Amino acid sequence: MHSPEIDRLIQYLGRLPGLGPRSARRAALHLLKRRDSLLGPLADALAEAAEAVRTCSVCGNLDTRDPCSVCADPGRDAAVLCVVEEVGDLWALERTGSFKGRYHVLGGTLSALEGVGPEDLNIAGLLNRARRPEVTEVILALNATVEGQTTAHYVTDRLAECDVTVSRLAHGVPVGGELGYLDDGTLTAALKARRPF
Ligand code: ZN
Repeated sequence: MHSPEIDRLIQYLGRLPGLGPRSARRAALHLLKRRDSLLGPLADALAEAAEAVRTCSVCGNLDTRDPCSVCADPGRDAAVLCVVEEVGDLWALERTGSFKGRYHVLGGTLSALEGVGPEDLNIAGLLNRARRPEVTEVILALNATVEGQTTAHYVTDRLAECDVTVSRLAHGVPVGGELGYLDDGTLTAALKARRPF
C-alpha cells in the first residue's frame, strides 16, 4: 500500500529499540509530515554522525575524536578506571558529573547462553591499561544482573595480576526509595552492604 521508499523508512525505524511496526508507521508519518522542520535535519544529523563518530581506541567511548574527549582531558584522574558494560552506561555516569576518572567500555557481558566469552569483550585492553603504573583503582560499574555480576567476578580474578584496588558500585536502597516497595533481592543486598551510621 506504500511506496517502496516509505516502506523502507518504516522498516528501518522499526529496528530502533522500543519501536514496533505500529509505532514505526506513526514515526514515519510524523517525519514525512514535517519534511523541512524534522525529516531533513534528522537525515543531515544521521549522515553527519555516520561520517564523524568513531569508537575511542583507548576506552571504547563514542566520539568524533580518537582518543575521545574523556581520555584526552588532562583534568581527569588517570589513576581511576571505571569499567562499564556499554557506552550508554558511560553516558549515564557522565550525566551525574560525579566521576572524574577515566572509563573502560567492555562492550557487553559474559554469557554462556549467548556464547559470549572473554575474548569477545574488551578485557585484554582493560588488563593492559590496569598494568600501567599510574592506574591504582578499578571500579566495576556493571549491571546488577546475573551476567553483570558473573562478568565482575571474572574481571576481578583477571585483575589480581595487576597492582590495583578493585571496587564495585554499592547495591541497595535507591535515593528516595521506600523499603516497602523494594524487591527482596535489593533489600537483602542493602542489608548486607550496611555501613556504620
Ligand atoms: Zn576514550
